[in-house]
Amino acid sequence: MDFRFHILGSSSSGNSALLVSPNARVLIDAGFSGKKLDAALKAVGESLDRIDAVFFTHEHSDHATGLAALARKPGIRLYANAATARDLKGALTCDANWHIFENGADFHFRDIRVHPFCIPHDAADPVAFRFTLHENTLFETRLAWVTDLGHVPELVRRHVAQVDVLVLESNYDPGMLESSGRPISLKQRIRGRHGHLSNPDAMALLASLDNPRLRRVFLGHLSKECNRVELVREALEPVAAARPGCRFTIVDPAGTAPVGMD
Ligand SMILES: [Zn+2]
Ligand SMILES: [Zn+2]
Repeated sequence: MDFRFHILGSSSSGNSALLVSPNARVLIDAGFSGKKLDAALKAVGESLDRIDAVFFTHEHSDHATGLAALARKPGIRLYANAATARDLKGALTCDANWHIFENGADFHFRDIRVHPFCIPHDAADPVAFRFTLHENTLFETRLAWVTDLGHVPELVRRHVAQVDVLVLESNYDPGMLESSGRPISLKQRIRGRHGHLSNPDAMALLASLDNPRLRRVFLGHLSKECNRVELVREALEPVAAARPGCRFTIVDPAGTAPVGMD
């Protein structure tokens, strides 16, 4: 395998992952402070100073808290679409090296091909990403990062059906959300068409997915208040049993160590 992938953390309170190819070290989202990101990167033998670029899905703080720390690093490229970059720039007091992409259009960062695609979420212009990495001249690996979506449109399903590695949100347990002390308006936002995927939503997508390539799935962005790893595991059991060739990992929202490919 000619690339490395580590989820530095993923939950409702912070999301970021590291993707390393032969020629690039990039972050997907940066939802932790610079200090936390650096510590998580050091745990996998890297550091914030060695990051070449960051790809932002959307402007919510659990995906962009580390922006100010990253923007100060010389040479680091920040990738977002125009609406997300506009929102993120407003939170910055320094200039940064922005690169604006178009949703639905492929672009390259060194040896990584990136394809951003629209997802339904209550942010300016949220996206998910599909990354393509070449393991050798004959074989490529495709990895998708799909969090923060209220439902699964056909476009998302199509992209997810073509990848080898998938990071998918399994945000909340419907019962826990219902019985939580959260205001009704927030409950409605979370389970709305532009909110988040529940455990049953995520499992329904996985169960119905016609994707013989799929070999690794990470379930992430669990809500700290409205979900538990055991509930996701329970919901996942029949789905995982039907896909013996695929390995599943649930990212513990309370976890402190990065979770990666092995
Ligand atoms: Zn969000
Ligand atoms: Zn989020």
